[in-house]
Amino acid sequence: MTVRTADIWQRHAACRGPESVLFFAPTLPEARPEREEREARAKAICRGCRVQLDCLDYAVGIREPHGIWGGLNETERRLLWDPEGVSEELAQA
Ligand code: SF4
Repeated sequence: MTVRTADIWQRHAACRGPESVLFFAPTLPEARPEREEREARAKAICRGCRVQLDCLDYAVGIREPHGIWGGLNETERRLLWDPEGVSEELAQA
């Protein structure tokens, strides 16, 4: 049997439980102030998480397109692997 690294670190994730809803956008539209508040609360949990670096490494490695992982949102993570792509998107927004 193979135990993947992700299976191990995820057991220690501080975001497990009811607050996990903070880490992903709701299905209904979310105004910018609400999104910023939700993300700030999620990132505060990440700062106290003992597996933050494992989580960030995993999310960047699979290019996870949604949510807060390792203390960064999707745009912030994308800067790590595609800085020019994000710059172009922001310039067009
Ligand atoms: S760093 Fe954040 S998103 Fe990753 S496992 Fe920890 S609390 Fe969850």
